[in-house]
Amino acid sequence: MSNYSFFESVEKSFNKAAQFTKWDKGLLEQIKACNSIYSMKFPVRMDDGRIEVIEAYRVQHSQHKSPCKGGIRFSMGVNQDEVMALASLMTYKCAIVNVPFGGAKGGIKIDPKKYSAYELEKITRRYTSELTKKNFIGPGIDVPAPDYGTGEREMSWIVDTYSSLRPGEIDAAGCVTGKPVSQGGVHGRKEATGLGVYFGVREVCSMKNLMDKLGLSLGISGKKVVVQGLGNVGYHSAKFFRENGAILVSIAEYEGAIYKADGINEEELFQHRKATGSILNFPGATNLAKSSDALELECDILIPAALENVINGDNAPNVKAKIIAEAANGPLTPEADEIFTKKGVLVVPDMYLNAGGVTVSYFEWLKNLSHVRYGRMEKRFTENVHSKIVSQMETLTGKTISESDRQSIAHGADEVDLVHSGLEETMIDATREIVEIWDSNPAIPDMRTAAYVSAINKVARTYNELGIFP
Ligand code: NAD
Repeated sequence: MSNYSFFESVEKSFNKAAQFTKWDKGLLEQIKACNSIYSMKFPVRMDDGRIEVIEAYRVQHSQHKSPCKGGIRFSMGVNQDEVMALASLMTYKCAIVNVPFGGAKGGIKIDPKKYSAYELEKITRRYTSELTKKNFIGPGIDVPAPDYGTGEREMSWIVDTYSSLRPGEIDAAGCVTGKPVSQGGVHGRKEATGLGVYFGVREVCSMKNLMDKLGLSLGISGKKVVVQGLGNVGYHSAKFFRENGAILVSIAEYEGAIYKADGINEEELFQHRKATGSILNFPGATNLAKSSDALELECDILIPAALENVINGDNAPNVKAKIIAEAANGPLTPEADEIFTKKGVLVVPDMYLNAGGVTVSYFEWLKNLSHVRYGRMEKRFTENVHSKIVSQMETLTGKTISESDRQSIAHGADEVDLVHSGLEETMIDATREIVEIWDSNPAIPDMRTAAYVSAINKVARTYNELGIFP
């Protein structure tokens, strides 16, 4: 057990990185502090007529950019310290991937499995109206999103409650992201985090000096990959790595893990699990004795995409991967981190690697403010111009191209194409910025610290430019 609370351990990582920056001590204190904390209790009548008092929070860590952004979690583990820590991580995550938001987080201390859908709706709507009354939500103030225990359904209740309390507010749909597409959501949100993990690691694997240090060849193709967790993030990470030539040698779930030297197809495994209730006994694969054995297999890239603290002081010495891609939040304990730094294992940190979700949330918010679907204005125009170019080339050369080539050249971008492209650009930029900082100072011990330095510099620069310290 750590001696620090979650918020204190975030502060500790921040302090470790702050020594590599030149900012005024007071400014660093301001960046670390949570600006506004709303702790609330409200009554909700349950299906059996009982009144239950609900404990909930919304923390706005930083308003250096507006609005603030961060998910809402429904869990019995929710407390003020946890929400404060998660809100501060959101500030740093958004800064690193150049998403112009301050950090925030919300939490309701309930076990959602113990409530009916109607009770959950009443809790979510009441929470939203409390936030609205206190000006803690709005497209220009604070924009929640899904997190542990919440999803599209809860986001729909939030946008509906907010809109009804703010009649005529034209940008009301932008008060929350992670909505279903029919309610103003954006295509490409579901796979965003896994795809972002792939783009980030692909960029790292294209850097010759990093690959030389690890003794790895350039590129993703042929790399042996182990994935822990076949949920949203794990499934999509696995899919994009496999589609781009990596070999998924092992996948672990809570019921066990399997190994297949020539590679697993994640979709076939997903269907096998759906049919049999388990990933075990997958045709052509070997069952491992324990699920956690997968973490210690011979491989190039290990992707923990399930839970926090799965790699710790006990198993880190046995991990053989050269690259650990933190798709989950907090999969490594600080002890594991130190062991990997000493061993020369490259840890690609969660704080930016799993930022695909918030990046695409930013695109959703922009869509809501612009009141138009991505691609609507230019798709047809692009297709017409491209078709004309192809026809002209055919006339000039006297040759014709195949129908499938014609379609792929002429294709105008759909919403999902633009969202994926924006995410790719974001992850490549962020990776390069972090690695540049890491390269610029040999005293910076690891990529995580370099990511924090990147975040601190960006937030501090904004504060300075705002000139809020007369
Ligand atoms: P999920 O619930 O869809 O998937 C998690 C999977 O991990 C489940 O299939 C579960 O059965 C499996 N699992 C649980 N315990 C396990 C164990 N001991 N060994 C192996 N597998 C185990 O959740 P998710 O949305 O994929 O999130 C996974 C992680 O990624 C979390 O840490 C989350 O905070 C983080 N994350 C998610 C997003 C997102 O957009 N969904 C964004 C950023 C970070």
